[in-house]
Amino acid sequence: MTAGAADRQAAQAGECAPETGLAGAGADAPRAAPVTAPVTATPIAPATLYLVATPIGNLGDLSPRARDTLAAVDVMYAEDTRVTRKLSARFQLTTPLRRFDAATTARKIPEILARLDAGEAVALVSDAGTPGISDPGTPLVAAARDAGYDVVPVPGPSAAVAALSVSGLPTHAYYFGGFLPRKAGKRERLLTALGELDATLVFYESPYRVVASFQQLAQLWPTRMGAFARELTKLHEEIVRAPLPELAADLAARPSIRGEFVILIAPEPH
Ligand code: SAM
Repeated sequence: MTAGAADRQAAQAGECAPETGLAGAGADAPRAAPVTAPVTATPIAPATLYLVATPIGNLGDLSPRARDTLAAVDVMYAEDTRVTRKLSARFQLTTPLRRFDAATTARKIPEILARLDAGEAVALVSDAGTPGISDPGTPLVAAARDAGYDVVPVPGPSAAVAALSVSGLPTHAYYFGGFLPRKAGKRERLLTALGELDATLVFYESPYRVVASFQQLAQLWPTRMGAFARELTKLHEEIVRAPLPELAADLAARPSIRGEFVILIAPEPH
């Protein structure tokens, strides 16, 4: 076990302690006093890559542990430093910020590995949500693991899971497909291949293509239920569940389509 892993195990044991006071409390037992111990005080391990989930809209969703981790690491890498600078300002983070995006991956991976080699703790954040989920983080995680470094999750929001949880569609199994292919032919081949799955299909989609995608989905599966989740956790949050043709008609009738979308398709009912 590495020193970092041992530290984390000790910290986890410590984190559980406040909750043990609640064990066995009956219905009439007085409510437990608020926990005042620093429950998020997980020590930051050197030479470790932290994948830190950040809000998908509502900044209140940054977890205390995520904030503490971002404050304590030596450097954080972000997909878009302008976006992450706002997060830093809101949470008074002074941690140095560097760019890591699809265009710079090849150059930045060796740079980050060199930092890990020098013993630095490095955080990776996405524009929104969980790094590595439909963003450029995955090759960095693979490279860090291949080089023998610890990669630690600091979990939190992800648009796909948030959308699925409130969709009202079956959740016994789901298939997350990332972004739908842009071209209609490729989209159709993919959807046809996935159509037999007994699982809810979950995709990210651009507001510019969401009408065309739902029209195609409605043609392919006119009797299936679907849903879309738009602008989750934001001011104009909207979650709509209906048969696919109704969703297509609803979106097609709107004068303009804005915001970020997750689209979901229920499996064929048995
Ligand atoms: N890593 C992120 C995650 O864990 O959710 C996803 C990053 S991906 C580049 C961005 C896509 O996620 C958007 O195009 C949209 O489809 C979806 N998304 C992100 N935030 C969202 C939100 N607040 N509401 C709905 N969809 C969202």
